[in-house]
Amino acid sequence: MSASVRVRFAPSPTGPLHMGGVRTALFNYLYAKKHNGTFILRVEDTDQARFVEGAEAYIEESLKWCGFEPDEGTKAGGNHGPYRQSERSELYLKELGQLMAKGHAYKAFDTPEEIAAKRTEAEANGDVWQYDARTRLSMRNSLALSAAQVAQLESEGQPFTVRFKMPESGREVTVSDEIRGEIRVSSSVLDDKVLMKADGLPTYHLANVVDDHHMEISHVIRGEEWLPSAPLHVLLYEAFGWSPPAFAHLPLILKPTGNGKLSKRDGDKGGFPIFPLAWTDPKSGQTSKGYQENGYLPEAFLNMLLLLGWSSGDERELFTLTEAVEAFSMKNVTKSGARFNPDKAVWFNEQYLRSGDSSRWVEPLKELNSEAMQGWSDTKCQQVLDMMLERVQFLHEIGTHLYLFAAPDRFDEKLIRKKWKPETPGYLRELKDVLTEVEPFESDNIETQFKQFLATRELGFGAVLLPFRIALTGTGGGPSMFDFAEFLGKAQTMDRLEAAVAKLG
Ligand code: GLU
Repeated sequence: MSASVRVRFAPSPTGPLHMGGVRTALFNYLYAKKHNGTFILRVEDTDQARFVEGAEAYIEESLKWCGFEPDEGTKAGGNHGPYRQSERSELYLKELGQLMAKGHAYKAFDTPEEIAAKRTEAEANGDVWQYDARTRLSMRNSLALSAAQVAQLESEGQPFTVRFKMPESGREVTVSDEIRGEIRVSSSVLDDKVLMKADGLPTYHLANVVDDHHMEISHVIRGEEWLPSAPLHVLLYEAFGWSPPAFAHLPLILKPTGNGKLSKRDGDKGGFPIFPLAWTDPKSGQTSKGYQENGYLPEAFLNMLLLLGWSSGDERELFTLTEAVEAFSMKNVTKSGARFNPDKAVWFNEQYLRSGDSSRWVEPLKELNSEAMQGWSDTKCQQVLDMMLERVQFLHEIGTHLYLFAAPDRFDEKLIRKKWKPETPGYLRELKDVLTEVEPFESDNIETQFKQFLATRELGFGAVLLPFRIALTGTGGGPSMFDFAEFLGKAQTMDRLEAAVAKLG
Protein backbone atom coordinates (compact mmCIF):
# COMPACT_ATOMS: atom_id res chain seq x y z
CA MET A 1 0.00 0.00 0.00
CA SER A 2 1.48 3.36 -0.91
CA ALA A 3 1.09 6.13 1.64
CA SER A 4 -0.94 9.14 0.60
CA VAL A 5 0.83 12.05 -1.05
CA ARG A 6 1.16 15.10 1.17
CA VAL A 7 3.24 18.01 -0.06
CA ARG A 8 3.86 21.44 1.34
CA PHE A 9 4.75 24.84 0.04
CA ALA A 10 6.74 26.42 2.87
CA PRO A 11 7.54 30.07 2.17
CA SER A 12 9.12 32.42 4.67
CA PRO A 13 7.19 35.68 5.02
CA THR A 14 10.27 37.80 4.41
CA GLY A 15 8.81 39.73 1.48
CA PRO A 16 6.65 39.24 -1.57
CA LEU A 17 6.55 35.92 -3.33
CA HIS A 18 8.96 35.86 -6.28
CA MET A 19 7.74 34.10 -9.44
CA GLY A 20 10.18 31.30 -8.63
CA GLY A 21 8.29 30.77 -5.38
CA VAL A 22 5.03 30.54 -7.29
CA ARG A 23 6.64 27.97 -9.59
CA THR A 24 7.56 25.90 -6.52
CA ALA A 25 4.01 26.20 -5.21
CA LEU A 26 2.64 25.23 -8.64
CA PHE A 27 4.78 22.09 -8.93
CA ASN A 28 3.76 21.07 -5.40
CA TYR A 29 0.12 21.63 -6.27
CA LEU A 30 0.37 19.67 -9.52
CA TYR A 31 2.09 16.77 -7.84
CA ALA A 32 -0.52 16.68 -5.08
CA LYS A 33 -3.48 16.81 -7.45
CA LYS A 34 -1.97 14.31 -9.86
CA HIS A 35 -1.77 11.80 -7.00
CA ASN A 36 -5.03 12.72 -5.26
CA GLY A 37 -2.90 14.09 -2.49
CA THR A 38 -2.97 17.10 -0.20
CA PHE A 39 -1.39 20.48 -0.89
CA ILE A 40 -0.36 22.24 2.30
CA LEU A 41 0.71 25.82 2.96
CA ARG A 42 3.09 26.16 5.88
CA VAL A 43 4.40 29.58 6.85
CA GLU A 44 8.02 29.44 7.99
CA ASP A 45 8.22 32.53 10.14
CA THR A 46 10.88 31.59 12.69
CA ASP A 47 13.32 34.23 11.51
CA GLN A 48 12.09 37.24 13.47
CA ALA A 49 14.74 39.54 12.05
CA ARG A 50 13.60 38.99 8.49
CA PHE A 51 9.86 38.97 9.15
CA VAL A 52 7.96 41.42 6.92
CA GLU A 53 4.51 42.68 7.76
CA GLY A 54 1.93 41.77 5.15
CA ALA A 55 4.03 39.10 3.44
CA GLU A 56 1.90 36.20 4.68
CA ALA A 57 -1.33 37.78 3.41
CA TYR A 58 0.45 38.51 0.13
CA ILE A 59 1.39 34.85 -0.25
CA GLU A 60 -2.18 33.73 0.43
CA GLU A 61 -3.58 36.22 -2.07
CA SER A 62 -1.08 35.24 -4.72
CA LEU A 63 -2.01 31.57 -4.47
CA LYS A 64 -5.66 32.53 -4.66
CA TRP A 65 -5.10 34.60 -7.80
CA CYS A 66 -3.30 31.65 -9.37
CA GLY A 67 -6.20 29.38 -8.56
CA PHE A 68 -4.46 26.78 -6.45
CA GLU A 69 -5.50 27.32 -2.93
CA PRO A 70 -4.12 25.02 -0.24
CA ASP A 71 -6.10 22.08 1.09
CA GLU A 72 -4.50 22.62 4.48
CA GLY A 73 -2.76 25.67 5.82
CA THR A 74 -2.79 28.89 7.76
CA LYS A 75 -6.17 29.89 6.33
CA ALA A 76 -7.60 26.55 5.24
CA GLY A 77 -6.92 24.89 8.60
CA GLY A 78 -6.55 21.09 8.84
CA ASN A 79 -5.64 18.56 11.49
CA HIS A 80 -1.87 18.89 11.26
CA GLY A 81 -1.83 22.48 12.44
CA PRO A 82 -0.97 25.05 13.50
CA TYR A 83 0.52 25.88 10.10
CA ARG A 84 2.56 28.87 11.19
CA GLN A 85 5.91 27.90 12.67
CA SER A 86 5.86 30.69 15.21
CA GLU A 87 2.93 28.84 16.81
CA ARG A 88 4.76 25.53 17.03
CA SER A 89 7.67 26.46 19.31
CA GLU A 90 6.80 23.93 21.99
CA LEU A 91 7.01 21.07 19.55
CA TYR A 92 10.46 22.12 18.37
CA LEU A 93 11.72 22.39 21.93
CA LYS A 94 10.33 19.00 22.80
CA GLU A 95 11.90 17.34 19.77
CA LEU A 96 15.17 19.14 20.33
CA GLY A 97 15.19 17.81 23.90
CA GLN A 98 14.88 14.28 22.50
CA LEU A 99 17.74 14.89 20.13
CA MET A 100 19.99 16.16 22.93
CA ALA A 101 19.02 13.25 25.14
CA LYS A 102 20.15 10.89 22.38
CA GLY A 103 23.45 12.75 22.13
CA HIS A 104 22.82 14.16 18.64
CA ALA A 105 22.77 17.80 19.68
CA TYR A 106 24.65 19.92 22.16
CA LYS A 107 24.65 23.34 23.78
CA ALA A 108 27.20 25.85 22.54
CA PHE A 109 28.06 28.96 24.54
CA ASP A 110 30.49 30.51 22.08
CA THR A 111 29.70 34.12 21.31
CA PRO A 112 29.52 35.31 17.70
CA GLU A 113 32.76 37.24 18.39
CA GLU A 114 34.58 34.11 19.59
CA ILE A 115 33.51 32.28 16.46
CA ALA A 116 34.51 35.19 14.24
CA ALA A 117 37.94 35.24 15.90
CA LYS A 118 38.44 31.53 15.10
CA ARG A 119 37.56 32.23 11.48
CA THR A 120 39.95 35.14 11.22
CA GLU A 121 42.73 33.15 12.82
CA ALA A 122 42.24 30.29 10.37
CA GLU A 123 42.07 32.66 7.42
CA ALA A 124 45.37 34.25 8.46
CA ASN A 125 46.87 30.77 8.05
CA GLY A 126 45.17 30.34 4.70
CA ASP A 127 42.68 27.94 6.21
CA VAL A 128 38.92 27.76 6.42
CA TRP A 129 37.33 27.22 9.75
CA GLN A 130 33.99 25.69 10.52
CA TYR A 131 32.27 24.48 13.66
CA ASP A 132 32.47 20.75 13.07
CA ALA A 133 33.71 17.39 14.29
CA ARG A 134 37.33 18.55 14.00
CA THR A 135 36.98 21.81 15.88
CA ARG A 136 34.10 21.36 18.30
CA LEU A 137 36.21 20.12 21.20
CA SER A 138 38.22 23.32 21.21
CA MET A 139 35.07 25.38 21.71
CA ARG A 140 32.90 26.29 24.68
CA ASN A 141 30.14 23.73 24.43
CA SER A 142 28.59 20.94 26.42
CA LEU A 143 30.80 18.39 24.66
CA ALA A 144 34.03 20.13 25.63
CA LEU A 145 33.07 21.47 29.04
CA SER A 146 32.27 19.50 32.17
CA ALA A 147 28.67 19.12 33.33
CA ALA A 148 29.46 21.45 36.24
CA GLN A 149 30.84 24.15 33.93
CA VAL A 150 27.78 23.92 31.73
CA ALA A 151 25.48 24.15 34.76
CA GLN A 152 27.45 27.18 35.95
CA LEU A 153 27.13 28.99 32.58
CA GLU A 154 23.43 28.24 32.46
CA SER A 155 22.83 29.47 35.99
CA GLU A 156 24.60 32.70 35.03
CA GLY A 157 22.09 33.04 32.25
CA GLN A 158 24.73 32.79 29.51
CA PRO A 159 23.01 32.59 26.13
CA PHE A 160 23.60 29.46 24.14
CA THR A 161 22.66 27.89 20.84
CA VAL A 162 22.01 24.21 20.26
CA ARG A 163 24.03 22.61 17.51
CA PHE A 164 23.64 19.36 15.62
CA LYS A 165 26.44 16.92 16.31
CA MET A 166 27.52 15.79 12.88
CA PRO A 167 28.51 12.15 12.81
CA GLU A 168 32.28 11.75 13.01
CA SER A 169 34.21 11.93 9.73
CA GLY A 170 33.84 9.61 6.87
CA ARG A 171 30.10 8.83 6.91
CA GLU A 172 28.56 8.87 3.48
CA VAL A 173 25.18 10.58 3.37
CA THR A 174 22.84 9.74 0.51
CA VAL A 175 20.06 12.05 -0.63
CA SER A 176 17.64 10.40 -3.06
CA ASP A 177 16.24 13.06 -5.29
CA GLU A 178 13.36 12.32 -7.65
CA ILE A 179 14.82 14.67 -10.24
CA ARG A 180 18.55 14.32 -9.67
CA GLY A 181 18.91 10.71 -8.61
CA GLU A 182 21.20 9.80 -5.72
CA ILE A 183 23.50 12.47 -4.35
CA ARG A 184 26.28 11.35 -2.02
CA VAL A 185 28.13 13.61 0.38
CA SER A 186 30.69 12.85 3.05
CA SER A 187 29.59 14.01 6.47
CA SER A 188 33.15 15.15 7.14
CA VAL A 189 32.59 18.26 5.01
CA LEU A 190 29.42 19.20 6.88
CA ASP A 191 29.41 21.56 9.85
CA ASP A 192 27.54 21.36 13.15
CA LYS A 193 24.59 23.50 12.12
CA VAL A 194 22.74 25.57 14.70
CA LEU A 195 19.33 24.03 15.40
CA MET A 196 18.19 26.47 18.04
CA LYS A 197 19.28 30.09 18.11
CA ALA A 198 20.24 32.00 21.24
CA ASP A 199 16.78 33.61 21.25
CA GLY A 200 15.28 30.17 21.83
CA LEU A 201 13.78 29.96 18.35
CA PRO A 202 14.48 27.04 16.05
CA THR A 203 16.45 27.53 12.87
CA TYR A 204 15.01 26.67 9.49
CA HIS A 205 16.66 23.23 9.54
CA LEU A 206 15.13 22.08 12.81
CA ALA A 207 11.66 23.49 12.28
CA ASN A 208 11.53 22.31 8.69
CA VAL A 209 12.45 18.71 9.47
CA VAL A 210 10.27 18.48 12.59
CA ASP A 211 7.30 19.90 10.70
CA ASP A 212 7.75 17.76 7.62
CA HIS A 213 7.73 14.74 9.91
CA HIS A 214 4.78 15.80 12.05
CA MET A 215 2.77 17.02 9.09
CA GLU A 216 3.40 13.63 7.44
CA ILE A 217 4.90 15.19 4.34
CA SER A 218 5.57 12.49 1.76
CA HIS A 219 7.47 14.61 -0.80
CA VAL A 220 9.60 17.68 -0.22
CA ILE A 221 9.46 19.63 -3.49
CA ARG A 222 11.50 22.83 -3.32
CA GLY A 223 14.00 24.97 -5.14
CA GLU A 224 17.52 23.85 -5.98
CA GLU A 225 18.95 26.39 -3.54
CA TRP A 226 17.96 23.99 -0.75
CA LEU A 227 19.86 21.04 -2.16
CA PRO A 228 22.98 21.76 -0.04
CA SER A 229 20.79 21.50 3.09
CA ALA A 230 19.37 18.13 2.13
CA PRO A 231 22.24 15.96 3.51
CA LEU A 232 21.88 17.66 6.91
CA HIS A 233 18.14 17.06 6.77
CA VAL A 234 18.66 13.38 5.95
CA LEU A 235 20.99 13.08 8.95
CA LEU A 236 18.48 14.86 11.15
CA TYR A 237 15.75 12.39 10.19
CA GLU A 238 18.14 9.59 10.98
CA ALA A 239 19.07 11.10 14.34
CA PHE A 240 15.41 11.51 15.25
CA GLY A 241 14.75 7.93 14.16
CA TRP A 242 12.29 9.02 11.46
CA SER A 243 12.20 7.95 7.85
CA PRO A 244 12.87 10.86 5.48
CA PRO A 245 10.37 12.02 2.86
CA ALA A 246 11.19 11.84 -0.84
CA PHE A 247 13.03 14.90 -2.14
CA ALA A 248 12.72 16.78 -5.41
CA HIS A 249 14.84 19.88 -5.96
CA LEU A 250 13.49 22.01 -8.79
CA PRO A 251 15.91 23.70 -11.21
CA LEU A 252 16.78 27.36 -10.79
CA ILE A 253 15.01 29.96 -12.87
CA LEU A 254 17.65 31.84 -14.84
CA LYS A 255 17.85 35.38 -16.17
CA PRO A 256 16.72 35.95 -19.77
CA THR A 257 20.40 35.94 -20.74
CA GLY A 258 20.81 32.53 -19.14
CA ASN A 259 23.56 33.85 -16.86
CA GLY A 260 22.67 33.39 -13.22
CA LYS A 261 19.57 33.33 -11.12
CA LEU A 262 16.63 35.54 -12.05
CA SER A 263 16.27 38.40 -9.59
CA LYS A 264 13.99 41.35 -8.98
CA ARG A 265 16.66 43.61 -10.47
CA ASP A 266 16.40 41.76 -13.80
CA GLY A 267 12.70 42.58 -13.86
CA ASP A 268 13.32 46.26 -13.19
CA LYS A 269 15.98 46.33 -15.87
CA GLY A 270 14.07 44.31 -18.46
CA GLY A 271 10.69 45.88 -17.79
CA PHE A 272 8.92 42.67 -16.82
CA PRO A 273 7.22 41.71 -13.57
CA ILE A 274 8.82 39.36 -11.05
CA PHE A 275 6.03 39.20 -8.49
CA PRO A 276 2.56 37.76 -9.11
CA LEU A 277 0.74 40.74 -7.57
CA ALA A 278 1.69 44.31 -6.78
CA TRP A 279 3.80 44.63 -3.67
CA THR A 280 4.40 47.74 -1.63
CA ASP A 281 7.52 47.53 0.44
CA PRO A 282 6.53 48.54 3.98
CA LYS A 283 9.90 50.19 4.61
CA SER A 284 10.52 52.19 1.45
CA GLY A 285 6.85 52.55 0.51
CA GLN A 286 7.86 51.63 -3.05
CA THR A 287 5.38 49.62 -5.10
CA SER A 288 6.38 47.03 -7.66
CA LYS A 289 3.65 46.02 -10.06
CA GLY A 290 2.97 42.34 -10.46
CA TYR A 291 1.87 40.14 -13.32
CA GLN A 292 -1.74 40.90 -12.43
CA GLU A 293 -1.37 44.68 -12.68
CA ASN A 294 0.55 44.30 -15.92
CA GLY A 295 -2.51 42.70 -17.44
CA TYR A 296 -1.46 39.07 -17.43
CA LEU A 297 -4.13 36.43 -17.05
CA PRO A 298 -3.41 33.97 -14.27
CA GLU A 299 -3.79 31.09 -16.77
CA ALA A 300 -1.02 32.59 -18.89
CA PHE A 301 1.23 33.24 -15.89
CA LEU A 302 0.84 29.66 -14.69
CA ASN A 303 1.34 28.15 -18.12
CA MET A 304 4.55 30.14 -18.47
CA LEU A 305 5.75 28.96 -15.04
CA LEU A 306 4.84 25.37 -15.83
CA LEU A 307 7.33 25.31 -18.67
CA LEU A 308 10.13 26.73 -16.52
CA GLY A 309 11.72 23.41 -15.70
CA TRP A 310 9.09 21.01 -16.99
CA SER A 311 8.14 19.89 -20.46
CA SER A 312 5.44 17.61 -21.72
CA GLY A 313 7.97 15.51 -23.58
CA ASP A 314 6.43 16.54 -26.90
CA GLU A 315 5.83 19.87 -28.63
CA ARG A 316 2.78 20.79 -26.63
CA GLU A 317 3.00 24.06 -24.71
CA LEU A 318 -0.54 25.13 -23.86
CA PHE A 319 -1.91 23.69 -20.63
CA THR A 320 -4.72 24.88 -18.44
CA LEU A 321 -4.21 24.11 -14.76
CA THR A 322 -6.45 21.03 -15.03
CA GLU A 323 -4.59 19.80 -18.09
CA ALA A 324 -1.28 20.41 -16.34
CA VAL A 325 -2.39 18.22 -13.42
CA GLU A 326 -3.16 15.47 -15.91
CA ALA A 327 0.14 15.78 -17.78
CA PHE A 328 2.53 16.52 -14.91
CA SER A 329 5.21 14.08 -13.92
CA MET A 330 8.41 14.55 -11.95
CA LYS A 331 10.22 12.56 -14.66
CA ASN A 332 9.90 15.47 -17.06
CA VAL A 333 11.33 18.05 -14.69
CA THR A 334 14.77 19.12 -15.89
CA LYS A 335 17.93 19.17 -13.82
CA SER A 336 19.48 22.19 -15.48
CA GLY A 337 18.40 25.78 -14.90
CA ALA A 338 15.38 27.06 -16.81
CA ARG A 339 15.89 30.29 -18.70
CA PHE A 340 13.07 32.78 -18.31
CA ASN A 341 11.86 34.42 -21.50
CA PRO A 342 9.64 37.45 -20.89
CA ASP A 343 8.41 37.41 -24.51
CA LYS A 344 7.11 33.92 -23.97
CA ALA A 345 5.03 35.15 -21.04
CA VAL A 346 3.45 37.74 -23.35
CA TRP A 347 2.87 35.08 -25.97
CA PHE A 348 1.00 32.93 -23.45
CA ASN A 349 -1.13 35.91 -22.55
CA GLU A 350 -2.13 36.39 -26.17
CA GLN A 351 -3.07 32.74 -26.45
CA TYR A 352 -5.33 32.79 -23.39
CA LEU A 353 -6.83 36.14 -24.31
CA ARG A 354 -7.91 34.83 -27.71
CA SER A 355 -9.00 31.33 -26.78
CA GLY A 356 -12.45 30.48 -25.47
CA ASP A 357 -15.58 32.58 -25.39
CA SER A 358 -14.66 36.22 -25.89
CA SER A 359 -17.89 37.46 -24.29
CA ARG A 360 -16.20 36.88 -20.91
CA TRP A 361 -14.13 39.99 -21.61
CA VAL A 362 -17.12 42.34 -22.07
CA GLU A 363 -17.31 43.33 -18.42
CA PRO A 364 -13.54 43.58 -17.82
CA LEU A 365 -13.22 45.67 -21.00
CA LYS A 366 -15.91 48.05 -19.78
CA GLU A 367 -14.23 48.31 -16.40
CA LEU A 368 -10.85 49.06 -17.94
CA ASN A 369 -12.37 51.81 -20.09
CA SER A 370 -15.15 52.92 -17.79
CA GLU A 371 -15.03 56.52 -18.93
CA ALA A 372 -14.60 56.03 -22.66
CA MET A 373 -17.18 53.24 -22.81
CA GLN A 374 -19.73 54.74 -20.50
CA GLY A 375 -23.23 53.72 -21.58
CA TRP A 376 -21.98 51.31 -24.25
CA SER A 377 -24.16 48.28 -24.93
CA ASP A 378 -22.74 44.79 -24.52
CA THR A 379 -23.18 44.28 -28.25
CA LYS A 380 -20.98 47.24 -29.02
CA CYS A 381 -18.33 46.05 -26.58
CA GLN A 382 -18.50 42.60 -28.12
CA GLN A 383 -17.94 44.16 -31.54
CA VAL A 384 -14.81 45.79 -30.21
CA LEU A 385 -13.59 42.46 -28.86
CA ASP A 386 -14.32 40.71 -32.16
CA MET A 387 -12.27 43.31 -34.00
CA MET A 388 -9.45 43.79 -31.54
CA LEU A 389 -8.63 40.61 -29.60
CA GLU A 390 -6.55 39.28 -32.48
CA ARG A 391 -4.57 42.47 -32.48
CA VAL A 392 -3.55 42.94 -28.87
CA GLN A 393 -1.45 41.09 -26.33
CA PHE A 394 -3.27 42.40 -23.27
CA LEU A 395 -6.89 43.38 -22.76
CA HIS A 396 -5.93 46.85 -21.51
CA GLU A 397 -4.14 47.49 -24.79
CA ILE A 398 -7.50 47.82 -26.56
CA GLY A 399 -8.08 51.09 -24.77
CA THR A 400 -4.99 52.59 -26.36
CA HIS A 401 -6.65 52.42 -29.80
CA LEU A 402 -8.32 55.78 -29.36
CA TYR A 403 -10.15 55.74 -32.71
CA LEU A 404 -12.49 53.16 -31.17
CA PHE A 405 -13.92 55.87 -28.96
CA ALA A 406 -13.68 59.08 -30.99
CA ALA A 407 -12.86 60.41 -34.43
CA PRO A 408 -9.12 60.90 -34.87
CA ASP A 409 -7.93 64.42 -34.22
CA ARG A 410 -4.50 63.66 -35.56
CA PHE A 411 -3.38 61.72 -38.60
CA ASP A 412 -0.16 59.79 -39.01
CA GLU A 413 1.96 62.37 -40.78
CA LYS A 414 4.52 60.06 -42.27
CA LEU A 415 1.78 57.94 -43.73
CA ILE A 416 -0.01 60.97 -45.13
CA ARG A 417 3.13 62.16 -46.85
CA LYS A 418 3.60 58.78 -48.49
CA LYS A 419 0.05 57.69 -49.22
CA TRP A 420 -2.15 60.75 -49.42
CA LYS A 421 -2.07 61.74 -53.07
CA PRO A 422 -3.65 64.82 -54.70
CA GLU A 423 -6.39 62.55 -56.09
CA THR A 424 -7.14 60.87 -52.71
CA PRO A 425 -9.76 63.35 -51.43
CA GLY A 426 -11.69 62.90 -54.68
CA TYR A 427 -11.71 59.11 -54.30
CA LEU A 428 -12.89 59.36 -50.74
CA ARG A 429 -15.72 61.69 -51.69
CA GLU A 430 -16.83 59.24 -54.34
CA LEU A 431 -16.54 56.40 -51.84
CA LYS A 432 -18.67 58.35 -49.44
CA ASP A 433 -21.41 58.66 -52.04
CA VAL A 434 -21.25 54.92 -52.65
CA LEU A 435 -21.34 54.00 -48.96
CA THR A 436 -24.30 56.28 -48.22
CA GLU A 437 -26.39 53.95 -50.33
CA VAL A 438 -25.34 50.75 -48.50
CA GLU A 439 -28.25 49.28 -46.61
CA PRO A 440 -28.11 47.55 -44.17
CA PHE A 441 -24.76 49.09 -43.27
CA GLU A 442 -23.02 45.80 -42.49
CA SER A 443 -19.46 44.62 -43.03
CA ASP A 444 -20.20 42.24 -45.94
CA ASN A 445 -22.33 44.77 -47.79
CA ILE A 446 -19.80 47.50 -47.26
CA GLU A 447 -17.04 45.26 -48.57
CA THR A 448 -19.03 44.26 -51.69
CA GLN A 449 -19.88 47.84 -52.54
CA PHE A 450 -16.35 48.97 -51.83
CA LYS A 451 -14.94 46.38 -54.23
CA GLN A 452 -17.49 47.17 -56.86
CA PHE A 453 -16.58 50.82 -56.62
CA LEU A 454 -12.92 49.98 -57.16
CA ALA A 455 -13.79 47.79 -60.13
CA THR A 456 -15.94 50.39 -61.89
CA ARG A 457 -13.38 53.10 -61.33
CA GLU A 458 -10.54 50.73 -62.19
CA LEU A 459 -8.72 51.59 -58.99
CA GLY A 460 -6.31 49.45 -57.02
CA PHE A 461 -7.17 48.33 -53.49
CA GLY A 462 -4.26 50.26 -52.03
CA ALA A 463 -5.25 53.55 -53.61
CA VAL A 464 -8.46 53.72 -51.58
CA LEU A 465 -8.37 51.29 -48.67
CA LEU A 466 -5.44 52.84 -46.86
CA PRO A 467 -6.74 56.41 -47.22
CA PHE A 468 -10.12 55.10 -46.03
CA ARG A 469 -8.37 53.65 -43.00
CA ILE A 470 -6.41 56.82 -42.34
CA ALA A 471 -9.60 58.83 -42.56
CA LEU A 472 -11.48 56.66 -40.05
CA THR A 473 -8.68 55.85 -37.60
CA GLY A 474 -5.85 58.29 -38.20
CA THR A 475 -3.38 55.40 -38.42
CA GLY A 476 -2.17 52.74 -40.77
CA GLY A 477 -3.02 49.57 -38.86
CA GLY A 478 -5.95 48.08 -37.07
CA PRO A 479 -9.06 46.01 -37.61
CA SER A 480 -10.81 45.22 -40.88
CA MET A 481 -12.12 48.54 -42.21
CA PHE A 482 -15.39 46.95 -43.23
CA ASP A 483 -15.98 45.62 -39.70
CA PHE A 484 -14.90 48.92 -38.29
CA ALA A 485 -17.26 50.93 -40.51
CA GLU A 486 -20.15 48.70 -39.46
CA PHE A 487 -19.14 49.22 -35.83
CA LEU A 488 -19.09 53.00 -36.31
CA GLY A 489 -22.40 53.00 -38.14
CA LYS A 490 -23.21 54.89 -41.30
CA ALA A 491 -23.52 58.35 -39.79
CA GLN A 492 -20.19 58.21 -37.95
CA THR A 493 -18.43 56.72 -40.96
CA MET A 494 -19.69 59.54 -43.16
CA ASP A 495 -18.72 62.13 -40.56
CA ARG A 496 -15.22 60.80 -40.20
CA LEU A 497 -14.70 60.63 -43.97
CA GLU A 498 -15.95 64.17 -44.34
CA ALA A 499 -13.80 65.49 -41.51
CA ALA A 500 -10.64 63.85 -42.82
CA VAL A 501 -11.12 65.15 -46.32
CA ALA A 502 -11.82 68.63 -44.97
CA LYS A 503 -8.75 68.54 -42.79
CA LEU A 504 -6.28 66.83 -45.11
CA GLY A 505 -7.57 68.30 -48.37
N1 GLU B 1 11.19 28.43 4.17
C1 GLU B 1 11.94 27.90 3.08
C2 GLU B 1 11.85 28.89 1.94
O1 GLU B 1 11.58 30.02 2.19
C3 GLU B 1 11.44 26.54 2.73
C4 GLU B 1 12.38 25.65 2.03
C5 GLU B 1 11.82 24.26 1.95
O2 GLU B 1 10.84 24.08 1.22
O3 GLU B 1 12.32 23.37 2.64
O4 GLU B 1 12.00 28.62 0.79
